[in-house]
Amino acid sequence: MTSTLTDAPIFDPDQWQLTEQQAHLGQLARELGQSRFADRAVKYDREASFPTENFKDLHESGLLGICIPADLGGHGADLKTYMLTASEIGRYCGATALTFNMHVSSCLWTGPLADDLSLEADVRAELESGRKRHYQRIIEDGAVYAQPFSEGGAAAAGKVAFGTTATRTDGGWLINGKKIFASLSGHANFYGALCTELKDSNDTPSRRNTMYVAVPANAEGVRVEGEWDPLGMRGTVSRTLIFDNVFVDKEALLMPRGVYFSAAKEWPHMFMTLTPSYMGIAQAAYDFTVSYLRGEMPGTPPVKRRMYPTKQLAVAQMRIMLEQTKSLWFQSITEARTSPDKESLIRAWTAQYTVMENANEIAQLAIRTCGGQAMLRSLHLERLYRDSRCGALMLPWTAELCMDMIGKAALYEQGESDE
Ligand SMILES: Cc1cc2nc3c(=O)[nH]c(=O)nc-3n(C[C@H](O)[C@H](O)[C@H](O)COP(=O)(O)OP(=O)(O)OC[C@H]3O[C@@H](n4cnc5c(N)ncnc54)[C@H](O)[C@@H]3O)c2cc1C
Repeated sequence: MTSTLTDAPIFDPDQWQLTEQQAHLGQLARELGQSRFADRAVKYDREASFPTENFKDLHESGLLGICIPADLGGHGADLKTYMLTASEIGRYCGATALTFNMHVSSCLWTGPLADDLSLEADVRAELESGRKRHYQRIIEDGAVYAQPFSEGGAAAAGKVAFGTTATRTDGGWLINGKKIFASLSGHANFYGALCTELKDSNDTPSRRNTMYVAVPANAEGVRVEGEWDPLGMRGTVSRTLIFDNVFVDKEALLMPRGVYFSAAKEWPHMFMTLTPSYMGIAQAAYDFTVSYLRGEMPGTPPVKRRMYPTKQLAVAQMRIMLEQTKSLWFQSITEARTSPDKESLIRAWTAQYTVMENANEIAQLAIRTCGGQAMLRSLHLERLYRDSRCGALMLPWTAELCMDMIGKAALYEQGESDE
């Protein structure tokens, strides 16, 4: 692809001291986003349709395998590199960045994050042979993985065992259950579902027995149902997924049994992977405002509005919020590692809260500041505003739950209670 970039990177490689790989992948994502995803985003949003063409581009550019190790054909990107790259996609199409996240998470959990866990040699060997099969499908066939965790109860918040069950049977398991808000439903090739393994139908569900399974979309008993006509992030097509006695064998395991439970405990920063889409939206809303007030927004008359002091103050407010958001997020993804200490974890929740809430705040300031003509559907600001509202609702680290966890962690040390 010949470079036609005009947008500056969200994180300038020199100023933010990015690695060569981070700069390169960021540029690749920006190039795709600016030249292809930005225009297509209008249709996906209007129709609430899945960004199939974008996923084809992500495969062809190699980004579908961003977190797959280089010796297996991917880019071998770590969590931070992925987050920076995905934020560039989020600027142009939030729904593509969010669904890309669901796909990449299947590689992050099984790849860089699992590599950091201390596992018995036989478990490690099982992990490696299993993931090779999944990675090969992604690299060679462009297979797309979804990440349906949510069930409408407390499981996706990490409080109770998943209600979706995998009951042992001859040669494998029978999966039964319902996943709500399953982004990519009807469009993924595999559903990377979390479920609770049961020895038999009398077994008591336990979070320790969480299994992470790639259910083939075309397996018998897999069904997509319900409408999808939401406020924002419409291209994610997050409909309801039903597993009705779906048989899977051990080839479907994305991680050996028990490993997901350890990974989720030891790698909490993984739950920040929903933020890059919204980091990108925050940047896009700010960029829109600057361009519009300078009279440079394509498709609008070249009327300047930048000379009014109230507009200047609003842009200053937006810029301050954007810089605060970027800095905190960058620090948090830089220090992400296994078993972070309390300070680092509080910072991660704070960064999550800040990105999700500030993206929407910056978008609403953009609408108020740019004014009536800027919120017409012919421009993309109103979509940024609607998409940005969804971030704070996303489990397990919703804005409310982040506040809850930050307050508790700040006031109580391990083991303390007032009972
Ligand atoms: C655009 C979009 C795409 C999505 N894609 C996916 C996907 O691909 N895969 C997936 O698994 N999920 C996905 N989700 C689902 C998302 O993470 C939520 O599970 C979903 O929005 C349902 O949330 P809810 O607010 O109805 O949850 P509820 O379970 O009703 O929770 C309501 C609120 O109560 C609070 N709450 C919940 N539990 C607790 C608790 N134990 N203690 C204190 N407060 C609590 C939380 O703040 C929560 O927001 C997506 C959501 C959106 C908006």
